[in-house]
Order: sequence, then structure tokens, then C-alpha cells
Amino acid sequence: MAPLDSKDIVVLMKNPTEKDRDLITRAFLFAQKAHENQRRKSGEPYIVHPFNVALILAGIGADAETISAGLLHDTVEDTGISLSDIEKEFNKTVAFMVDGVTKLGELKYKGVVRHVESLRKLFVAMAEDIRVIVIRLADRLHNVRTLQYIEPEKQKRIALETLEIYAPLANRLGMWRMKGLLEDASFPYAYPAEYKTVVALRKTKGRETIKRLEKIYRTLQTTLTEHKFKDFVIDYRIKYLYSLYMKLKRNNMNIDSIYDISALRIIVDSMEQCYQVLGLVHNIWRPVPGKLKDYIANPKPNGYQSIHTAVFTGEGNIVEIQIRSKAMQHEAEYGAASHLLYDETGKPKTKKGGDEKQLAKSVKWIHELIEWQKEIKESSEFLHALKTDFIHDRIFVFTPKGDVVELPKGSTVLDFAYAIHSDIGDHAVGARMNGKFVSLDTELINKNTVEIETKKTSKPTLKWLDYVKTSMAKRHIKNILNISGNKTGVKAYIEKFFTK
Ligand code: MN
Repeated sequence: MAPLDSKDIVVLMKNPTEKDRDLITRAFLFAQKAHENQRRKSGEPYIVHPFNVALILAGIGADAETISAGLLHDTVEDTGISLSDIEKEFNKTVAFMVDGVTKLGELKYKGVVRHVESLRKLFVAMAEDIRVIVIRLADRLHNVRTLQYIEPEKQKRIALETLEIYAPLANRLGMWRMKGLLEDASFPYAYPAEYKTVVALRKTKGRETIKRLEKIYRTLQTTLTEHKFKDFVIDYRIKYLYSLYMKLKRNNMNIDSIYDISALRIIVDSMEQCYQVLGLVHNIWRPVPGKLKDYIANPKPNGYQSIHTAVFTGEGNIVEIQIRSKAMQHEAEYGAASHLLYDETGKPKTKKGGDEKQLAKSVKWIHELIEWQKEIKESSEFLHALKTDFIHDRIFVFTPKGDVVELPKGSTVLDFAYAIHSDIGDHAVGARMNGKFVSLDTELINKNTVEIETKKTSKPTLKWLDYVKTSMAKRHIKNILNISGNKTGVKAYIEKFFTK
């Protein structure tokens, strides 16, 4: 193996300065020395891991401080280095980021508890500086990519955890590429049999689709050139394997019902050009009714923008075509993280935390998460609530004033009431959902408008615990009912109820 060289990291950066180069070189040499006597399970020198984490970070456009923290991320946990050493040698920000991704000591915490408490620590750090989570995701990506060297039971655990926590986190941050890569690297270890099935399905189906796409690609290339478009890019995008698996599961594993295994993507300069291209596309091929989605005029609640359409391309075939601008493409690849890593002119940011307004908008939920997790003492409850309330699939419901309330899929009218205000929750009697009267246990429908009806005399009952899905609402109800959440608590409540 050729010796590692920090130049290979710097080369991936956009316009690195002399200072950036210097910082990264020093971090690399420092980490190399610190891990000198360690090896990975693969037998390679340990530095290969932080080096690859740094490559991933540089590849997604991280700044020099983040990349350096990536190089140093395991030094405090695994070697004799202390945080103050890092702060002295580098700076406070780099030390802060390294601290954020360092797991808690094994002496104080054990097993699952240590693991969950380390996650909590990560979130607290991430609320202060989002770059901490970007480092953790890059770390996780390299770890799942090298799972073949780990014992089988551990492989499965790490892969499942990646699918349940880290990939959804990347998704919530709008880092869709990272999400796809994390999922596809974990998939074979988490569900080996299903993985093989999906690979085989995609292979047969994929071959014929590629042929068709090539033909359409050539037609588009000519048409756009004829219409004087310059600087456009057309490429194929093949659906990520895990995401294809999820879709197959929703469609009885019937591959023929899925027409977006691969899609053509047209990337142009401006938003206006997106609509011009859409016109051209629909002029050549007949659009499939109901499949045109204008996420430019109506962005997805997580900010995603693009036009999606599906067209008939002859012989009963349907092809999905996505049209977007370069800015939208960049956003789709790197998401919220890109706002935090770059300023408006595309230059890497140096200020810790990045653009405050964007941060507030994109990752408001992180702050909610921090506030709320303070109340939860039990590690197992935290992990459960994290999965159900925060990183589960989300739906978006509107208040009558048009404010958006984000909730986990499966949430009910009562969850919505509590999400608005605990007082409204406590006195809710029913609601109007898109004008129709519904009961408190009715499941919310995405993008509906919900108006809660309250009555002063109404108050929570034990039954309400079955109505709600979010941990947040459950906690409120339990607090009001004065029960602690376990059986003795419920018993206490019943006793109280009957002796009143
Ligand atoms: Mn690591």
C-alpha cells in the first residue's frame, strides 16, 4: 500500500488556502503519530480509518477545521491524547468537534447505556455546531464500508443501528446522498437474504432500462443543444438498493410496478430553464397523467426542490425524468449541511455554526430534541423516543393560520394538539381535519389542515395514552395524570382515581 498523504485530502477541497493545507497536514501527522501502534481489524494501520473519514468529509465540501477534526476524531477516545492537547496544538473549535464525537468513558457507563448516553452527548454538541454530526456520519459511513472485518453478530448490530438511527438522521438533515450511501453499505449485513433478492431483481430489470434510457438520453442531448441550452448535464440516477427494497416491500415485491428504478436527471442553470426543459420533454413524449410533481413551486417540507415527471416512451414503457437547477442539485446532495458548510457565494464558512438563520430553519428540531431530552432520564426511553419522535418518517400538518407542524408518521389529532401547546392538548375534545369533524384518536393525514376544538372542562384520561403516538404527548399526559410510566404508576393512578 502506498503511504498515505494528506495532499490527497486537500485535492478534494474547493479552493483550499495555504492555511487550510497547513492545518490538515498538521492534523494528519498528529493523528498518524497518535495512532502509531494501533491497527484496525483489517490489519491495516489505524490511521487508514481517520484518513478515509477525512476523504469523505472533503468530498462533501467540508471546511478545513471539520476535516482536521475528522482526522483527529478517534485520538482522544483511543490514544493517550487529551482534549487540551488538541486545543493547544490546534484550536478550541477543532477540540470542541473532537469532543462531540468522542464516546463517553467505559468506566462510568456500560454497554447500551454508554452507547445511548454517547448519542445524547453527540446531539448536545451538534446543537452548538452542526459539523459535529457531519463528522459522525462520515465516521459511520467508513465503518459500515469496512464491516467485512468485524465479527458477524457485531456486523448485524452496527448495520441495523445505522439503518435505524444514522441514515434517518442524515435524511432529516437533508443529506440524501449520505443517507443512500449509509443504507446501501448496511443493507447486506442487516438483511442478507433480502439484499440478494433485490440485487438480482435490479440486475435483470436494470439492463433493459439502461438501453431505453440511453436512447432517450441521446434525444434529449440533441433537443437541448438545438434549443441553445449550454452548460446542462444529463445523467442517469439508479435508485439506491435499500430505497428500492423499501419500495418493493410496499408493492408486494413486484418489480414491474416500480418505474423509477432508474431515472434521467437534467440539470440546468436556472429555475426558468427547468420549466423550458419540461415543456420540451412533454412535447417529445406524452406525460403520464398524475405523475407531474412540481417541487419547485411547492418544495417538499424538508426543502427538496425539483420537477419530476414520468413520460411514455413507446412500447408501454414509462421513464421518470427529473429536472432541476445546479443550485437545487447541490442542495439535494448535501442538504442542510451545505448551508452550514458554505456561505452564499459558495465559499467555505469559517465561522462556527454557520448561517444562523439557515441553521434555525433547517435544524430547528435539533434544538427541540435537546430541550426535550433534558427531561428524559432513562437511556432506553431516550432511544425509543429518539426513534419515534425525531427521526421517524415525518408528516406535515397545517394549523388554520397556515403554520406547519411536523410530526412522526402515524401521529394522531391529539398528538397535534399537544404539539401546538400542552394547554390545548389537555383540553382538546375533537378537531376539524380539512373541515371534517374527527375524534382525538384519528390519525393525521399529510398536508391536511387541523383545527382543534377545546373545552375548558375537558381533561386527560388514562385512555388518552392509547390515542397518542409521540413520547412528548405521552409524557404530558402522564404528568397530568401523575403517573410515572410503569405499572406501579398506573396502579397508583387507579387507586387515586377510586379513592377520590
Ligand atoms: Mn472512528
